[in-house]
Amino acid sequence: MGRPNVDAGDMRWGWTCPLCETDVSVSRDPGSGTFRWECDNGACDAIGFGFSSRRRARLALREYRERYRNIYR
Ligand SMILES: [Zn+2]
Repeated sequence: MGRPNVDAGDMRWGWTCPLCETDVSVSRDPGSGTFRWECDNGACDAIGFGFSSRRRARLALREYRERYRNIYR
């Protein structure tokens, strides 16, 4: 919406787990129609769900990451 290249263009940044840096998978839940991200590392239970779009899922993932980093300051 007015900033076409800021968030939508690059789908590569930000898609790593805030806890273990493993890539996360983003998928759409056909039941609820919402998006979720989930860490690909089986030993890690980081997850976020209930997002209305892939973009929102990514923004939430970034916020999660920043919150997590703040805890360790
Ligand atoms: Zn993880």
